Amino acid sequence: MHEMSLVQSILDIVLEEAKRHRVQKITAVNLVVGRLTAVVPNQMNFAFELLTEGTPAQGARLNLEYVPTRVGCGQCGHEYEVAEGDFLCPECGGAGVVLSGRELHIASIEGE
Ligand SMILES: [Zn+2]
Repeated sequence: MHEMSLVQSILDIVLEEAKRHRVQKITAVNLVVGRLTAVVPNQMNFAFELLTEGTPAQGARLNLEYVPTRVGCGQCGHEYEVAEGDFLCPECGGAGVVLSGRELHIASIEGE
């Protein structure tokens, strides 16, 4: 379950940021997640709940905002967004190269 280590590294950053800005209690963590990361929201939430216990982020909401996969065609250079598993260029049928969709980063942290 790679969600556990993912959440741990996110949490490290979140707690560090909170300390820097003197935030006592974190109320929400908003993540941007690429479709290709294949993280399971339920497991993210589960890991988050487990790992935030006893930290200033305990009880915070974990919001996942999914961004679509962007692909560039290797033949004609056309850029497009794809749904799951269909990477072929709609213009020429060429094979696409993934430009984005593997990202996973913190969009914002809410606290008080
Ligand atoms: Zn093309």
